[in-house]
Amino acid sequence: MKPVDWNGTEPVAKSNDTLDVWIDSGSSSRSVLMRRPDLFHQPSTINHQPANWQADMYLEGSDQHRGWFQSSLLISLAGNGAAPYKTVLTHGFMVDADREKISKSKQGQGVYEKPQTADAYVKKWGADIVRLWVASQDFRNDIIVSQERINKVAETYRVIRNALRYQLSNLYDFDPATHSVPDEKLTGLDRWILGEYSKLEAEVIKAYDAYEFHVVYQQVSQFAAVELSAIYHDVIKDRLYTDPANSHRRRSTQTALHRLVSGLCQMLAPILSFTADEAWELIPDKPTQSVHETTWLRYSLVLPEGELLAWQQMLAIRDGALAELEKARQSKLIGKALEARTELIGGMIGVLVSQKDFESLRELLNVSQISAQPSDESLKVRVAKADGQKCARCWHWETDVGSHKEHPTICGRCVAAVSS
Ligand SMILES: [Zn+2]
Repeated sequence: MKPVDWNGTEPVAKSNDTLDVWIDSGSSSRSVLMRRPDLFHQPSTINHQPANWQADMYLEGSDQHRGWFQSSLLISLAGNGAAPYKTVLTHGFMVDADREKISKSKQGQGVYEKPQTADAYVKKWGADIVRLWVASQDFRNDIIVSQERINKVAETYRVIRNALRYQLSNLYDFDPATHSVPDEKLTGLDRWILGEYSKLEAEVIKAYDAYEFHVVYQQVSQFAAVELSAIYHDVIKDRLYTDPANSHRRRSTQTALHRLVSGLCQMLAPILSFTADEAWELIPDKPTQSVHETTWLRYSLVLPEGELLAWQQMLAIRDGALAELEKARQSKLIGKALEARTELIGGMIGVLVSQKDFESLRELLNVSQISAQPSDESLKVRVAKADGQKCARCWHWETDVGSHKEHPTICGRCVAAVSS
């Protein structure tokens, strides 16, 4: 039979060899799977059938339970003695905001430009955003197509992309082979974020295995917006920009950034294929040229319970303290948080004990000084103007600014950084 040109310049040729649409499509296990050795694989370990011609998956819309899935199953059981597939996955339909099926009802009505193709969407938003939007929808139900929803996903895309860009931009002088810090020697903040990342990775792998791509989307976008953008990336700026280049604290944070960006690229590669690959190219010492050639190795850092509790408590204190700092800013007591000294009264009993914890808290709040009077009472946060003067280099307020003859405008910590 002559191939048909679907642009309409050739007439459609009538075929007389169709027996019945359900029998023809339902027997594709014989005509496709069994006739193409390149589709063969090892005998199934799931149902112990020697049927290495079985498809891993049959994928179709939810209207095919009584259609193609069933005719395929019946014909294959009768003719081949086994089901033609190992798994069946069904999806809902693309509907518009009025829940009308887009595939049929709105074609040619000018509601969407060529709604039957992905071209228009890809041209407008780019392939990665379209794929991210598809992944973000729970395909088991009907999928509502609207500009508003795609725009929202485009915002999430920018948050994820900015997170990757920030991580890469701080690895320019990092050589993983010589500068990496082992997990047990990382600073508390870096251990916390990698512990959170490790939890995210476990959830994402579970979701991919269950084909729950919308869960992957929710988990990754939440992590990028909250743990990374609102907390970690903000807090580490001071270390990255003002610590001596080769200091343990800076190298520890770069180690964490290197792990995060490598892991996120691998995690996102199936969905943000271009973005992940472009970011991967810029990772120092990457194991393969393309992220799509890499083997995704699980990373696991589980924080001991006490350490995890301390961080949960510190982050809860941070929420309360940031609100107080905002009030102080509005009443013009301080400008930036670094102009503040915070006094924590009450709360945080038992868990936060060491000086290291209070230094971590100071860093989390991005204030210059912190003092604490732990007690049984509920936590109160007082904000006062910081002691000393502003350091011209790190902008912290320190009492030792002016005490160094050669560097009269900077603090002791910065003198050490400049000298090194
Ligand atoms: Zn300084």
